Amino acid sequence: MCVTSRRHFLGVLGAFGLGAVGVGGWKYWPEQGLINPCLANLPRTAIHHPLMQSVWAGLDPAQVWDSHVHLAGGGDSSNGTWFSPDMDSLWHPLLRLQKLFYMNAACVNETPHKLDASYVARMLNLIESMPAGFKALLFAFDLFHDEAGKADKKRSIFYIPNQYAAQVAHAHPAAFEWAASIHPYRADCVEALQLAVREGARAVKWLPSAMGIDPLSSRCDLFYEALAAADVPIISHAGRELAVQGGNRDFGNPLRLRRAMDHGVRVVIAHCASDGDDRDIDQGPNGPRVRSYKLFARMMDEPRYADKLHADISALTQFNRAWALKAVLQRDDWHPRLLNGSDYPLPGVMPLFSATDMANMGLLDPAAVPLLQEIRTHNPLLFDFSLKRLLRFEQHQFPSSVFETRRFFERKITRHQAIL
Ligand SMILES: [Zn+2]
Repeated sequence: MCVTSRRHFLGVLGAFGLGAVGVGGWKYWPEQGLINPCLANLPRTAIHHPLMQSVWAGLDPAQVWDSHVHLAGGGDSSNGTWFSPDMDSLWHPLLRLQKLFYMNAACVNETPHKLDASYVARMLNLIESMPAGFKALLFAFDLFHDEAGKADKKRSIFYIPNQYAAQVAHAHPAAFEWAASIHPYRADCVEALQLAVREGARAVKWLPSAMGIDPLSSRCDLFYEALAAADVPIISHAGRELAVQGGNRDFGNPLRLRRAMDHGVRVVIAHCASDGDDRDIDQGPNGPRVRSYKLFARMMDEPRYADKLHADISALTQFNRAWALKAVLQRDDWHPRLLNGSDYPLPGVMPLFSATDMANMGLLDPAAVPLLQEIRTHNPLLFDFSLKRLLRFEQHQFPSSVFETRRFFERKITRHQAIL
């Protein structure tokens, strides 16, 4: 963050009275403050710290893909990326604040025509600190579409076109893979999927509530058939979404994704649906509201979805989701179906994480806290990864397979290409 934007950011925080009391769940002064200092290379003491050996022990870095990474862009180089002007408007203070946090988390240069390139440059810098072979799966992000399948920018928050995500991944093949984002109501959804697969897309990313996708609608069926034929998984958000608001919240009900799996599509539910509540529509349209996680867990335990339903553990270490960590760590039988992801740039949003809280919850050796805090100021991607590698609850921990996610995305790749 350059000096002017840092001053601007502090000014806006002040304007909203953000301090020791904080917003929402931030009931205390965050242990690492509000602002990501965006330091660069890790100090030698951190690189050679004995705990870093346990972080990478038993892993083949060539198999380690971070399966949940957001791209951002403001259309700097006519690449089609776009942010809603609401995110810069004083009339939408929370959106404006959110954008400032994300931009600070990603350490971008906000001077005109620098944002997009600096976002990618920072990620490349972070990935340089990882062992060779580590890659990040970059997400495209489609616009909100109405019932007629027409894109509606007024109801969208941001847009990352497939072409841009593919272009960034192709420019840096040692660091990135990419996932397309395709609204299933689009008249060209099947052609768009086929094009994306030819361009190397590993998955399709959805945020049903914000994009206006009802996964339970028969209007998705053609798209589901094409996904199943190509064996391309959907990575879908489920449960409450705070980071990208708007749209129809009910579309985020995890049970609505049953229809995709019933069509043979592999589904990855982001964050194990660990935030919010939804109606238990298995008991009818007016079923009781229960934790979204409970509905997700029910489907994980249904034998018919054993090879279809997967979940990512991205953001489970955020303070508002950490309650689910113990439950997920204890479910050793689910671990072969879990994928690690960081939800970058969120690990760089300083108030959202606390290594001390993790230690207080009995999930982390307190001796690891200072190291993790130091790593975080330099490299939020490595912080997130190291924290998850060091998590323990009783005799449970996430096995290497949760981090070696490449096999999940490369499955039957030759068959896809043969079909498409
Ligand atoms: Zn995300």
